[in-house]
Amino acid sequence: MGKCPICKLVTLLAGIGAVNWLLVALLNINLVTKILGDMTVPTKVVYTLVGVSGIILLVSLFKTCPCVAKQS
Ligand SMILES: [Zn+2]
Repeated sequence: MGKCPICKLVTLLAGIGAVNWLLVALLNINLVTKILGDMTVPTKVVYTLVGVSGIILLVSLFKTCPCVAKQS
């Protein structure tokens, strides 16, 4: 992953999702549902963003980010 704003955002979102699962596993605290409610629309939006970020991260393993490609 490069260091463009999109890459940073994607990594940030996936990281937040990962840390949230860590908290669920260790402390049984789900920060997303604690803050936004259980399966409310905002919660689903967060989960969707985290999931999409994960997919983009996976794709980035095989394909360089377009913004990085532009710079080089
Ligand atoms: Zn990028």
